Amino acid sequence: MSLFDKYNQVNARHDRLIAAGRDPFNICMDRIVSATEAIIDGREVILVGTNNYLGLTFDSDCVEATVEAVRREGTGTTGSRIANGTYSSHRDLEQDIAGFLGRKAAMVFPTGYQANLGIIAGLAGPKDTILLDADSHASIYDGCRLSGATLIRFRHNSPADLDKRLARLKDDNTSKLVIVEGIYSILGDQAPLDEFVDVKRRHGVELLVDEAHSLGVFGDNGRGIAEAYNVEQDVDYVVGTFSKSLGAVGGFGASDNPAFERLRFTSRPYMFTASSSPSSIATARATLKKIKAQPGLRLQLWDNARALYKGLSDLGFEICAEASPIIAVRLRDEESAVFMWNALINAGVYVNLALPPGTPDGSCLLRCSLSAAHTSAQVRRVCEVFEQAHRALKDWRDTQSAAE
Ligand code: PMP
Repeated sequence: MSLFDKYNQVNARHDRLIAAGRDPFNICMDRIVSATEAIIDGREVILVGTNNYLGLTFDSDCVEATVEAVRREGTGTTGSRIANGTYSSHRDLEQDIAGFLGRKAAMVFPTGYQANLGIIAGLAGPKDTILLDADSHASIYDGCRLSGATLIRFRHNSPADLDKRLARLKDDNTSKLVIVEGIYSILGDQAPLDEFVDVKRRHGVELLVDEAHSLGVFGDNGRGIAEAYNVEQDVDYVVGTFSKSLGAVGGFGASDNPAFERLRFTSRPYMFTASSSPSSIATARATLKKIKAQPGLRLQLWDNARALYKGLSDLGFEICAEASPIIAVRLRDEESAVFMWNALINAGVYVNLALPPGTPDGSCLLRCSLSAAHTSAQVRRVCEVFEQAHRALKDWRDTQSAAE
């Protein structure tokens, strides 16, 4: 028996997806044209499935700062943070992030995934308890597993369920950490953070918020969902990534806890990996500056998000959450989602295809994400292409049922 035999079922499903058009797990951007356009399979497409919320990946100041850093500091650090991989630019970025969020300290990691592993498994250990939202990102789950803590999942976005579970633990004297996200990456729904804060205060436990998709997007200053709900002082640990509105690669954790810096010597995902390259650090520093200096980018992003939300709702599509820069369109079944996804690309629009088990409620989704760099004309075109693709889906279904 081969080690790969366990994947037979997955492989059969993957083959079916490929047979329906193209491979959704192997899309290649043959050429990137701009923050919102690329060439895929020889076609020019509008990108509506990146997390490039502020559209900064081609910003000339950010590109220049990045190129300059490579010339100054080289292509890679070739060492971990605790050996030769801490440059003054890593420290500077940590100070920038802490300053931006109004926190005492921040730690930078090579990816957002590792930031969750490193912060969660650094904070919690086998004698602690973590209560996490059931729809948490894989990196949160993996961080929890690595910690060895007792895990308790509460119902997605349900402060009442968290309350109930914490009440059951009232005589258990382990330290407790609650984990939620700001805005959830697949459906685009927001955590009711004010209510979660109320629960965490009553039970005297600590709270970590992953602001991966909300940083730069929510709050008057772009500090995220905690700023939008005015509860920043009640969030004990913030985790974020550079791979979305900051247009780079990397992640961070930030806190006011005076002991936070100890994680540098206790967090394995921080210690046992090479530090971020000078280019990633320079990009994140430059894009963070833009977030502060150009609040108009966030307003533009929201204008685009509301325009697409309205356009798709007016066309009758079922959207999973209220308007936000993540707009997930629910399709009836996998066949319809896959057909539409291929038809959209064929007509020049790339969105993310999200299928179970990667979706929270078993839905088959076309996940759109907006950027401040989209033009109104692009947003209108996306709506037209959705309408065309949906018509093609109906025709295809009609021919199928006629043949049956
Ligand atoms: N947290 C959340 C909520 C995410 O959605 C993601 C990535 N999509 C990550 C963490 C990991 O970030 P990165 O891609 O920078 O590793």
